[in-house]
Amino acid sequence: MFHGESGEFLALAHTITRHGSVLDLLNPAPLSREQAYRLIGCRDDEVPSLLDAAVRAKERFKPEIITYSRKVFIPLTNLCRDYCGYCIFRRDPGEPGAHTMTPDEVLEVARAGEKLGCTEALFSLGDNYLEAMCELVLRETSLLPHPNPGLLSAEWISRLAAVSPSMGLMLESTSESLLQAGAAHDNAPDKVPSKRLRTIEEAGKQGVPFTTGLLIGIGETPEDRVDTLLAIRELHRRYGHIQEVIVQNFRVKPDIPMHDRPEPSRGEMLRCVAVARLLMPEVNIQAPPNLSAPYYDELLDAGINDWGGVSPLTPDFINPEKPWPHLDQLKSRTEAKGYSLRQRLPVYPEFLNRVIGKAGLLADRTKAVADEEGYAQVTVQ
Ligand code: SF4
Repeated sequence: MFHGESGEFLALAHTITRHGSVLDLLNPAPLSREQAYRLIGCRDDEVPSLLDAAVRAKERFKPEIITYSRKVFIPLTNLCRDYCGYCIFRRDPGEPGAHTMTPDEVLEVARAGEKLGCTEALFSLGDNYLEAMCELVLRETSLLPHPNPGLLSAEWISRLAAVSPSMGLMLESTSESLLQAGAAHDNAPDKVPSKRLRTIEEAGKQGVPFTTGLLIGIGETPEDRVDTLLAIRELHRRYGHIQEVIVQNFRVKPDIPMHDRPEPSRGEMLRCVAVARLLMPEVNIQAPPNLSAPYYDELLDAGINDWGGVSPLTPDFINPEKPWPHLDQLKSRTEAKGYSLRQRLPVYPEFLNRVIGKAGLLADRTKAVADEEGYAQVTVQ
């Protein structure tokens, strides 16, 4: 149980989860920054109560189901001008392993995914070429593109929104300290928080269903995690377009500049997921199962309602040493916690009308793969 001051915040969390709607949370009495700071720093013996409050909030929002998106990951190019301290994916032009996929390679992966019942083609990076490849996949297959290309101008958001029902950009962290010499983003101009917030805001102005999230364990404090979540919540309050918040944990690798940094503990991850849920009780909260294996089902105890994109075909190119779980294992472990697992599209059901309301190829393709509740039509078990 919580005691003393922390007890007040748990009581508040219970009040929110018992009576709350998004309006109750955001206005007039949202969980405050100070309250969230206290919850994310709670003692070990207080964690079960925090998790209990988070699961109650999740169950009010999306009772009894956990979703995932069956996807292929299309790493269109690994050329990147940033040098994040935790990245093994990026390459410079001419460096061994540098590669930009041809249209035939893109289609080959997408068609193989189609046969396995995938409904999402996750793209990363790609600049101008990305738009053409999203359009190709949309036209030639039944997969829906979900681009994750980094900073975007208003014009690029608009162009990509014509060929993809949703898109994403991880905010990662609002902490400016990560830009300092030797820190995770000291040579990553695209990771300046104000620039990323601007892209997410522009997507909001255009009403694009948007996925974002934070990366924990890259040198930020627990309070920074709360600040990042609050920045996302504020953008969602203003524009209503955040369809999903990912809580991703840093995993160390031997060949990265941050190879000697500690990974966030399970306790830190669970606290952060639970506080994300309590700060945004009616937003989809996701955590990748492969980055918490073998204990990933514990994330269900902290209030997530989604596993994110899971591929039966392609590796996680960003964390290739962490394979996604087999879908039958994901299903059985989700069911063992009392939930049913349901396949969703890259755009969540509550945002589907934004896409199918418009005329054209994107709307037609999206309608063709959605079931009557807005989830994915399941073609392969
Ligand atoms: S994490 Fe993304 S932005 Fe950073 S270096 Fe790697 S590919 Fe580039």
